[in-house]
Amino acid sequence: MKKKVLIIGGGFGGLSAAKALGSYPDLFEVHLYDRRNYHLFQPLLYQVATAGLSPSDIAVPIRSILSGYRNVSVVLEEVTSINPQAKTISTPKGEVAYDYLISACGSRHSYFGKDEWEDFAPGLKTLEMATEIRRRILTSFESAEIETDAQEKQAAMNFVVIGGGPTGVETAGAIIEIATNTLARDFRNINPQETKVYLVEAGPKILASFSSDLSRSGLEDLQKIGVQVLTNSMVVNVDDKKVTIKNQTETFDIPTRTVIWAAGVKASSLNQTIGSPTDRAGRVMIKSDLTLPNHPETFVIGDQANFLIDEKHSLPGLAPVAIQQGRHAAKNIVRSALGKNMKSFVYFDKGQMATIGTKLAVMQFKGIEAHGFIAWISWLFVHIMYLIGFKNRVLVMFQWFWSYITFNRGSRLIMQKDWKK
Ligand SMILES: Cc1cc2nc3c(=O)[nH]c(=O)nc-3n(C[C@H](O)[C@H](O)[C@H](O)COP(=O)(O)OP(=O)(O)OC[C@H]3O[C@@H](n4cnc5c(N)ncnc54)[C@H](O)[C@@H]3O)c2cc1C
Repeated sequence: MKKKVLIIGGGFGGLSAAKALGSYPDLFEVHLYDRRNYHLFQPLLYQVATAGLSPSDIAVPIRSILSGYRNVSVVLEEVTSINPQAKTISTPKGEVAYDYLISACGSRHSYFGKDEWEDFAPGLKTLEMATEIRRRILTSFESAEIETDAQEKQAAMNFVVIGGGPTGVETAGAIIEIATNTLARDFRNINPQETKVYLVEAGPKILASFSSDLSRSGLEDLQKIGVQVLTNSMVVNVDDKKVTIKNQTETFDIPTRTVIWAAGVKASSLNQTIGSPTDRAGRVMIKSDLTLPNHPETFVIGDQANFLIDEKHSLPGLAPVAIQQGRHAAKNIVRSALGKNMKSFVYFDKGQMATIGTKLAVMQFKGIEAHGFIAWISWLFVHIMYLIGFKNRVLVMFQWFWSYITFNRGSRLIMQKDWKK
């Protein structure tokens, strides 16, 4: 009889597991649950938020990605809990039993206990958040255009990005480029050159996961294009009018209408239902074969899990980690179903990269480091390669080429919040 495999999450990890198990129609019946009907390419979310790409350029229906795998079905449903003892998951429609489970639910934002900041400083995790940030950025420029009070005008033209990791750096770089290149021609009553983009980082350097040299190049490039980088600067309050920052010498306010949170993540809240130990970020501690301790049929992978590489370090929350773990979990399920021992997961490190602006990026791969144009071209190539769907690849390539030669950004539509208007 076929074994029933449930997968939670159609992100990078869940999809790669589903595709791998889809090659064994005689062994498995696979059901992939996701609360959204599309797979989202999160690394390009900041481009939707900054009007470079449209939502549909970076999202593909999960059903269409998996349509060729006859033993895989897709269920549009939120999973509310996992019970590894009973080998069941719960959804609003009831409980579902499994022989094997792969949970790949990803992560969400962490406001370090200050959840009330979320309304004023949305993060970049979903398409809804990205389009809301786009709305706020574009609306700020529009209000600056008609504002007569000089201070209010400047507040509308101040943008604060909190968190100096790759997402924060990419977003800050993209906002300053919109102001200096794209909007400069279109407005009559504001000088987009007066736009101030602040990148606020609590630690001593930005791009801290990169080498010191690349972190420094990233900083210099950001400053060159006009981003004001504030390191050793702790955000102590955010509201609808300002961000309050404390550094070693003073506490001060930046008046602003647009704040973007790129500072911290925590694992899916589903982890709290599993009853297994978690780390400080709420990630479930998993064994080397990617299963939960004492539950060899329950796998947790990707951003939802903490995979220790030694006593002190764990794998970072990156797409290649989730993809490789998804494939490995599938392989271990095949081995287990065939009565073989499961194998430990070994990560092949594909390095990391971040773009700063047009023709500016940083990348490192196995001791090789690059910045500037070569890193930027590599960044473009890798992101196109990983995007799912031929149509999306062609569309994104075309739009990047178009904005490169015209400085134009195609998706500058302000969607109203109230759809009844
Ligand atoms: C803005 C941003 C930029 C990034 N840039 C990069 C980058 O440049 N390079 C890189 O390698 N990584 C990057 N990452 C990280 C990378 O996207 C993640 O590491 C990766 O998505 C993790 O894959 P996953 O499968 O664990 O989770 P995800 O890809 O997040 O997928 C989780 C899926 O689970 C679904 N889900 C969640 N909860 C439930 C539930 N209860 N019930 C049903 N479905 C549920 C979600 O809808 C989603 O489809 C970035 C992340 C973000 C947010």
